[in-house]
Amino acid sequence: MINLNKLQFGNYLDCAATTRMDPRVLEAMKPFFCDYFGNASSNHAFGQKANQQIQYAREQVAALINASSDEIIFTSGSTEAINLGIKGFVESNSQNGNHIITVSTEHKAVLASCEYLETKGYEVTYLDVDKNGQIDIKSFENAIKDNTILVVVMYVNNEIGVIQPINEIGRITHEREIAFLCDATQAIGKVEINVEDDRIDMLSFSGHKFNGPKGIGVLYKKKGVELTPQIHGGTQENGMRAGTYNTPLIVGLGKACEIILHEYNTVHKHITELTNYFEASIAGIGKLIVPNTKNHFPGIMTVEVPGLPSDIFVANNGMVTVANGSACQDEIITESHVIRSLDKDKKWTNNTIRISFDRFTTKEEIDHLVSAISSFLHLDKV
Ligand SMILES: *Cc1c(COP(=O)(O)O)cnc(C)c1O
Repeated sequence: MINLNKLQFGNYLDCAATTRMDPRVLEAMKPFFCDYFGNASSNHAFGQKANQQIQYAREQVAALINASSDEIIFTSGSTEAINLGIKGFVESNSQNGNHIITVSTEHKAVLASCEYLETKGYEVTYLDVDKNGQIDIKSFENAIKDNTILVVVMYVNNEIGVIQPINEIGRITHEREIAFLCDATQAIGKVEINVEDDRIDMLSFSGHKFNGPKGIGVLYKKKGVELTPQIHGGTQENGMRAGTYNTPLIVGLGKACEIILHEYNTVHKHITELTNYFEASIAGIGKLIVPNTKNHFPGIMTVEVPGLPSDIFVANNGMVTVANGSACQDEIITESHVIRSLDKDKKWTNNTIRISFDRFTTKEEIDHLVSAISSFLHLDKV
């Protein structure tokens, strides 16, 4: 068992799993718990106050990705958005084919949804990636068949930070009249996203990955894309997602989008500087599995540290929080499917840890990590 008394605030380098909420987001949310608590679907003033703020949040979200506000569906997070996007789309469009193309390094929300659909008779192609985690556009084009109806590719990978060629994928899917769903959960607030330029038909993300609240996310659905709802009930979200609106979380998500739209450049510069600092600090002890080049978002890295048993390090070091593998694997230390995809012949070593930054990360936190690794390996005593 991990000793929770060792939890150290201010030493957190696992921002790809989740982030600290921005205090400005909390301030925006507060009035909607006890004061403006009305059901946004009610016609009275309490309801309409909530409804007005939800519409405002919808505009804040849409502005961040260059969508229009009636193309935003609020969900409980990216996982739900991905489930709705994938299952809802194939259910509505199976008359046009039953083939889906995705990538072996996608998030489990995508892979598990696709595996489920395979049991229902759909056919799925899982594209391979090269040693740096990139898909090959030619192989992607070759995988397209007459019955292909949907392509699902993430923007930024949550373990290695690789950025996929989204614009080219969008161009090709658009030409071939195939729908394109992009999981942008790690990209929001980190790369500039424009669903129109990139010809993205559906896009998912969660508030908590960019300093917003947990339990709220979005499926952007371009006008004209047909989906079958996966949660039935009331008529909220044009019947696409039933259930009483969670006004505080929606308001918080809108605020997080507004903040990052205005502060993107500062945040990006900060994270890039930290990454360069980290690379220099870790040199000689470990190395980035995927180099920090232009196809890589700087704030998310998996580092290989020879001699470091990553599971023991992550569980027992009280100084700084990092991850081995992604957060969804609940204490079961298995090999990451992402790292495996980069080199299928390599023996699993358990020497990798994931480091990820956000706007609040400091150089001191990085110093703590490097010294924690050094003392774990007894390098400081040499
Ligand atoms: C975190 C994450 C998800 C899932 O988000 P939830 O908030 O857990 O629903 C999906 N895709 C990627 C790339 C992620 O990093």
